[in-house]
Amino acid sequence: SLTGKDLHLSFGANKVLRGVNVNVDAGKTTTVIGPSGSGKSTLLRVLNRLHEPDQGDVLIDGRSVLKDNPDKLRQRIGMVFQHFNLFPHKTVADNVALGPQKLLGLSKDAARALALEQLETVGLSAKADSRPGNLSGGQQQRVAIARALAMKPEIMFFDEATSALDPELVKGVLALMADLAQTGMSMIVVTHEMGFARSVSDTVLFMDHGQVIETGPPAALFDSPETERLQQFLSQVL
Ligand code: ATP
Ligand code: MG
Repeated sequence: SLTGKDLHLSFGANKVLRGVNVNVDAGKTTTVIGPSGSGKSTLLRVLNRLHEPDQGDVLIDGRSVLKDNPDKLRQRIGMVFQHFNLFPHKTVADNVALGPQKLLGLSKDAARALALEQLETVGLSAKADSRPGNLSGGQQQRVAIARALAMKPEIMFFDEATSALDPELVKGVLALMADLAQTGMSMIVVTHEMGFARSVSDTVLFMDHGQVIETGPPAALFDSPETERLQQFLSQVL
C-alpha cells in the first residue's frame, strides 16, 4: 500500500496542500477529483518526491520513504502525464526499452524483448519500429503507459492522462487504464473523467483548496455527496 499522511506543502504564501491523507491498497485504484488548482498534481508530486512535503509522511507498506533515495523511489512508481514526452527520434520500442536498459541494467536484447511484451499489452506490437510522430495521440499515450509498465512499477500514477487527447481517442486510453486496474495494478488516477472515476475506482478522493473534502467509494460520493462543495463540483462536471 501507498500512504500519504497529513501532507502539507506551501509555495511561498500559497498553501497548496493542507493536511492531505491518501491511501491506496495493493491492487486498488484511487481516483482524485477536484477543481483546477485544488492541488491534485502537487499531491502526486509529493507522493513521488518531486516535491518534499513541509510536513507529513509518505509510506509504502507502512514504511516511510522520505529518507530513501528519491530516484530509487521513483523507479517504483510509474508516471503517466498529460504530455507523454516520448523521444521523437527513437522508435516506439526503443522508447519503451530505454528505462529498463539504463535504469534496471537489462541487456539490449532483454530490454527489447520486454518492450515488445509491454507493447503487446497495450495493443501496439505492430508499431514497435515506428517513430512516435507517426502514431495518434492515443497510441502515443499507450506507448507512454507501456514505457511506465516496463519498469515493473509497484504503483502507477496517472495525471490527466487523457486530457490532451482528441475526444475520439480518450476511450481507448481509459479502457486500457481500466484493464490495468482489473489486472490488479495499484493506481492513483487524477482525472476529469467522472465515468471512469465512478466505474473503475475503489476509492474517490475529492480535493478542494489543498484539502480532502470527501473520500469514499464512488457510489457514495457520486450518489450522495455530503458537502455543498462536492455537490456543486459534481453539478458542474456531470
Ligand atoms: P489542474 O486540475 O488545473 O491540473 P491541480 O489540482 O492539479 O489543477 P496543482 O497543479 O496541484 O493543481 O496546483 C495547485 C496550486 O499550486 C496552484 O495554485 C498552483 O499555482 C500552485 N503550484 C503548483 N506547482 C507550483 C510550483 N512548482 N510553484 C509554485 N506554485 C505551484
Ligand atoms: Mg493538475
